[in-house]
Amino acid sequence: MKQASFRVLLTKSRLEKGLLAISRKFRSLFPPSAQKVTVFFDDESKPYQKPYTPFEAATRESRIYSLRKWFLKHKATVGDWVEVIVEKAGYRLIFRKRSEEEVRYRNELQEAETEEQATNALRKLAQTQKRSLREAAIKELRRLSKRTWERKRIVVTPGERYEVVPASLRALLKTVYEGHCQICGFTFRKRNGEPYFEVHHVDPEGGHQPQNLLVLCANCHAQMEHADVFVERDAQGWVVAVTINGERRPVYQALIKSLPTSLMLLALWSFLTLYYHATSHRI
Ligand SMILES: [Zn+2]
Repeated sequence: MKQASFRVLLTKSRLEKGLLAISRKFRSLFPPSAQKVTVFFDDESKPYQKPYTPFEAATRESRIYSLRKWFLKHKATVGDWVEVIVEKAGYRLIFRKRSEEEVRYRNELQEAETEEQATNALRKLAQTQKRSLREAAIKELRRLSKRTWERKRIVVTPGERYEVVPASLRALLKTVYEGHCQICGFTFRKRNGEPYFEVHHVDPEGGHQPQNLLVLCANCHAQMEHADVFVERDAQGWVVAVTINGERRPVYQALIKSLPTSLMLLALWSFLTLYYHATSHRI
């Protein structure tokens, strides 16, 4: 028999009730009627008999009960996970702390050799964090930008303007910008359906530090390499504008938290709406 495994996220109400709720898509892995099922905890070999109820219209889930002691032992909190492995002799429940999960997938992302592996790791990280893929990628790039990066000269030949960047960073940048040039917004789909983009190292000696990378189209990239360029950065080191041969172009940075600006715009918008209503009523 092929071993099946899946993961269940712990929520507040399930923790309080001391039960594990299994979604309907896994119901075929469980008995069709209420009974006791054999459960093994973590790496223990001792079996326990635990009450179980199958999927019902009322609860919309299958349930394994009487797990409170085990939750307490692990100081379970909302956001932790239980890995359920269907073994021949019963169900093995492995407790996974949310932070452990994050570390695991973050390492997987870091060590990915291909972009596909990196994207898979990012997907699992996003799921653990209960974030969208793009939000998780932005968070990860922010985290990486605070790390100390090795300063090294990146020598790029035209054929490998993309491949020279580690797979993890390529996957993160692709997820965040979807291939769109941070200067002009242009991208196009390649024959394989992937967006085309190049990665520019603003300071050729600056290494792969996220603040030193820009997602660019081939045209803007060539200008950054060959034209007369002046770069403006904010206090955190993010490039906010470039002046190419005397023409200033703002640079889109998805990672800059622009809360003050949006608050200002919101205030302006509210003022204009009020002003509009006030004046239109008068007429
Ligand atoms: Zn461009």
